[in-house]
Amino acid sequence: MAHPEQPVDLECACEDGSRAMSLSQAKQLIFSNLIPIEIAENVALEQAYLRILASDIFSPSAVPSFDNSAMDGYAFRAHEVADIHTCRLKIAGEALAGKPFMSIVPAGHCIRIMTGAPLPPDLDTVIMQEQVQAQDGWLRINTPFKPRQHVRYSGEDIQKNQKILAAGKALGPADVGLLASLGISTIAVKKKLQVAFCSTGDEVCALDQPLKPGQIYDSNRYILRGLLSPLNLQLTDLGIIPDDPAQLKTMFENAGQNAQVLITTGGVSVGEADYVKKILESLGEILLWKIAMKPGKPLVFGQIKNCWYFGLPGNPVSAMATFYQIVQPALDYLAGATPTQPLSFQVPCVSPLRKSPGRQEFQRGILFHDDNGQLVVKSAGKQGSHILSAMSTANCFIVLPQETSDVTPGTLVLVQVLSAKI
Ligand code: AMP
Ligand code: MG
Repeated sequence: MAHPEQPVDLECACEDGSRAMSLSQAKQLIFSNLIPIEIAENVALEQAYLRILASDIFSPSAVPSFDNSAMDGYAFRAHEVADIHTCRLKIAGEALAGKPFMSIVPAGHCIRIMTGAPLPPDLDTVIMQEQVQAQDGWLRINTPFKPRQHVRYSGEDIQKNQKILAAGKALGPADVGLLASLGISTIAVKKKLQVAFCSTGDEVCALDQPLKPGQIYDSNRYILRGLLSPLNLQLTDLGIIPDDPAQLKTMFENAGQNAQVLITTGGVSVGEADYVKKILESLGEILLWKIAMKPGKPLVFGQIKNCWYFGLPGNPVSAMATFYQIVQPALDYLAGATPTQPLSFQVPCVSPLRKSPGRQEFQRGILFHDDNGQLVVKSAGKQGSHILSAMSTANCFIVLPQETSDVTPGTLVLVQVLSAKI
């Protein structure tokens, strides 16, 4: 694993003569520095959705905790019904969900039973109400059955003391439901990571201000909020910071004191990086500056006191690509979540793609079913790193390796699904 002080193995020459690290090397370098959060806190289950489990959970009881009916129908002893044509069972009573049949069921009897109602211990089989005739307190069975059918057995889903959820799991709807089914109302989760973010740039204008000549509206803070929100972090929006050394320095100093992670966009590309570089060198350290990926070559990773810093490129598509490939896995790791890989697989690409060797590319693509029902991918349109509309229509990245060049239609390509889009 590369150490920041040692010269790292660089792979790609940049136009300005400097060199950029491959994405996988950069991720190795970043992850070798990060230390996941240790602190846990107890929260009510209502607050636990999307939080990260601090420890393994073992089931305090079996689920279901009692044998119960999977159908609305009648429960009986299978061995008492040797021949459905001749057998009649007397109906002894009924069991409803939450209202068990509390007596012993005498020999030759059955009970009416509803879905979820406890199966009396002396009965073993349920038949659907559509397959019987009930008249004057007697039951006639019309359809052959299998002994023990339509019963949900105790422990069938989960056994007592079984490990049901592992530390590091980000709790989804089924997970909180599972915990609720076990009566667990409070749970230990990792403390939320404190993440501050902002846009930088003299040309970047807030949405409630009139645009001056040469200015553009600030897309990136809205993009970042969208990307960060599902990760369930403690977010602080620092607004728009102009390309002004004093204001940038104040922002970095404050973030270094108050946040565990700072994410900025803009101001780190060749030609305008000097401010950020000088400030970071005075307040902390820079561990990485350039990555051989497109979009998104300038990407700063560094540290200001106890705060990790990710400086993303200003072009919105570059900011998104670097976020998905680097910042999101880093945030998951720091937040104590078990790492997950984006869903990726190979499919034929039906449009031609332009590419020059040198950088790994994340082109915006649309996965769809062609007329034969085959899953294929096509380009989402213009691939400029400022073309946010193609990112908006894309449902995947088409991942093209560093050394490859143009792709001709029909070639198999790797796609990475943008999970929020399907
Ligand atoms: P930079 O990385 O600062 O050189 O910016 C690269 C490009 O992204 C420039 O065209 C900027 O105007 C644009 N850009 C920077 N910040 C934003 C932002 N917050 N929203 C939209 N575009 C931006
Ligand atoms: Mg700029």
